[in-house]
Amino acid sequence: MADDKFTAIIIGAGPAGSAAAYLLAREGLDVLLIERGETPGCKNMFGGRMYSHALNRIIPEFWKEAPVERPVVQESITFMTGDRSVSLNCQDENWAQPPYHSFTLLRAEFDAWLAGKAEEAGAMLACGIRVDDVLMDEGRVVGVRAGEDELLADVVIAADGANSLITEKAGLRKELAPRQVATGVKQVIELPPEVISQRFQLEGNNGAARLFVGACTRGMGGGGFLYTNKSSLSLGLVVNAAELQRNQHKISELIEDFKAHPLIAPLIDGGQVVEYSAHLVPEAGWNMMPRLFGDGILVVGDAAGFVLNLGYLVRGMDLAIASGEAAARTVMEAKARGDFSHQALGIYQEFLRESSVLQDMEFYRQAPGFLESRRLYEVYPQVATSLVAKMFTVEGAPPVHLIGRIMNQIKESPVGLTQLAVDAWKGGRAL
Ligand SMILES: Cc1cc2nc3c(=O)[nH]c(=O)nc-3n(C[C@H](O)[C@H](O)[C@H](O)COP(=O)(O)OP(=O)(O)OC[C@H]3O[C@@H](n4cnc5c(N)ncnc54)[C@H](O)[C@@H]3O)c2cc1C
Repeated sequence: MADDKFTAIIIGAGPAGSAAAYLLAREGLDVLLIERGETPGCKNMFGGRMYSHALNRIIPEFWKEAPVERPVVQESITFMTGDRSVSLNCQDENWAQPPYHSFTLLRAEFDAWLAGKAEEAGAMLACGIRVDDVLMDEGRVVGVRAGEDELLADVVIAADGANSLITEKAGLRKELAPRQVATGVKQVIELPPEVISQRFQLEGNNGAARLFVGACTRGMGGGGFLYTNKSSLSLGLVVNAAELQRNQHKISELIEDFKAHPLIAPLIDGGQVVEYSAHLVPEAGWNMMPRLFGDGILVVGDAAGFVLNLGYLVRGMDLAIASGEAAARTVMEAKARGDFSHQALGIYQEFLRESSVLQDMEFYRQAPGFLESRRLYEVYPQVATSLVAKMFTVEGAPPVHLIGRIMNQIKESPVGLTQLAVDAWKGGRAL
């Protein structure tokens, strides 16, 4: 490093920033990783499960040293009304073997570990410092301002999360609109490991991931989640911020209702809430992505809008890490050429495509629009649960074949067969 200049300053020690810092420091580049929290991860939250592929690529067999909770072997998605539910379950024992498909995690431990890896590799980690602005010189980003301090770098990587101030200050994105984001709340509820394994029918340290659609968000766009950690459960809700505002619902009340639902209450019975947190989720996908690079700047992770919520799966951590990797490769190329202009940094898009971040975002570009429909949260859970409940009901009435039951159920619902067919077609193509 020239006395007063870094090759890269990375803002935010979440998974995106720390992955980029680790890879750059490993190659011997001068990297400063700045985190506003007193320790990395101390204020970070997510639902609870990270798909392994991206981290396994940069730190092979990371699970041998990372603070992971449980490998997920059980998946389910449940449509729920106030008193009924219908679930689709999947269990795959292969997911309990290396290379584990996904793990539940707690962010305070995990983020601190990953930032620690970057520090071990040679990155300078500065915690408890909030970056306030980017420094510009003739239209290009040349560093950052934190309080009174001005720090210079060849390139700045904005890894500052969903509500990225840096991306806005650098002119790469406008302020987020409420319909582009969701509000997430989560409680961590402690229970003994053996109670968790017994209640979720899990062998040993295997884990479960459960997603919920319908009554848990009172028909608003979003859903509920429940993940098993070693000795706690991560339980929460994600609700579209615009709908929450419009309907004047308090998310703190929604989560208490969710906990009291007959499907959830027995699972958390006797547990103690040890953590409560809330966070924004950028959910508008492809259509909300900012400009991903400019002169002297790259944008990674949530700051770039790299989150996919398809209802049956939620991805953000793996995309954050993969984009951190793509940014690190970009900086290495730029350093080799001695050119950090936006033309040189444009190769970031190619690296993002190679690691499939951009393909995935583009592939699912119609999902956020499709998932805006209230029918998915209000009507279809009602239709599905009534239909299945009737299939299992015997009360001496004349029998009806399955097709007749389905048609009757659709006739009784506020949507007709045509609307249902259109939604099924659109959903099949969007998700
Ligand atoms: C409720 C909820 C549930 C989710 N569930 C899942 C899930 O189950 N699986 C999944 O894969 N993803 C999930 N996600 C998404 C996932 O959490 C994010 O995609 C991921 O954390 C993005 O990582 P990141 O490093 O880009 O940003 P973040 O993790 O948000 O990290 C940004 C970092 O930047 C720091 N920072 C911000 N501003 C500044 C500043 N000005 N100066 C210095 N530091 C700053 C922050 O303190 C933070 O440490 C969920 C998100 C939410 C909110």
